Amino acid sequence: MPARKAEVHHAHEEGIEFAFLTNPTRFIDDGKGNVCAVECIKMELGEPDESGRCRPVPVAGSEFRIEVDVAIPALGTRANPLLTKTMPNLTVNRSGYIVAEEGMTSKNGVFAGGDIVTGSATVILAMGAGRRAANAINDYLKWKYWKVKK
Ligand SMILES: Cc1cc2nc3c(=O)[nH]c(=O)nc-3n(C[C@H](O)[C@H](O)[C@H](O)COP(=O)(O)OP(=O)(O)OC[C@H]3O[C@@H](n4cnc5c(N)ncnc54)[C@H](O)[C@@H]3O)c2cc1C
Repeated sequence: MPARKAEVHHAHEEGIEFAFLTNPTRFIDDGKGNVCAVECIKMELGEPDESGRCRPVPVAGSEFRIEVDVAIPALGTRANPLLTKTMPNLTVNRSGYIVAEEGMTSKNGVFAGGDIVTGSATVILAMGAGRRAANAINDYLKWKYWKVKK
């Protein structure tokens, strides 16, 4: 589980139930457009892969349902493709994150920082990127207007 020990401890304290080796397969609705259950399947550890890690494989016929009022999928993060799709000149890396050097993207005068550049990181790193981008924007504007005045 990619979480700190303290976070796991706090989750237990707040009544979170962990379902290990369990995979959600679909949401089920009540016929009126409201979610009413999550269908899951039990998993078991299969043969180790090249990295030596046992890959979980589904246990045939072990599907079961958990009744719910609300379902919140929280399965990791990735870049929202909306911005990058609508800005074709913006260079992104293989994972869809914006490529920026000292805040400046491949698009002249467009700056980026934080998770959209580094991928999922931390608030402190995002704040640092914000400061660096602010400095870069300042330099860029000074340079641009200096050129116009000349
Ligand atoms: C569950 C979870 C727990 C975390 N816990 C911690 C923690 O304990 N400590 C820690 O340091 N970090 C934690 N993080 C990471 C931290 O939240 C991020 O690294 C940080 O928020 C990144 O800041 P950001 O400004 O780059 O992006 P964000 O905070 O994601 O801000 C981006 C903003 O842009 C908006 N946006 C997106 N697309 C558009 C658009 N097209 N037009 C206008 N606005 C748009 C979004 O709505 C959002 O408000 C956690 C992250 C998650 C998901």
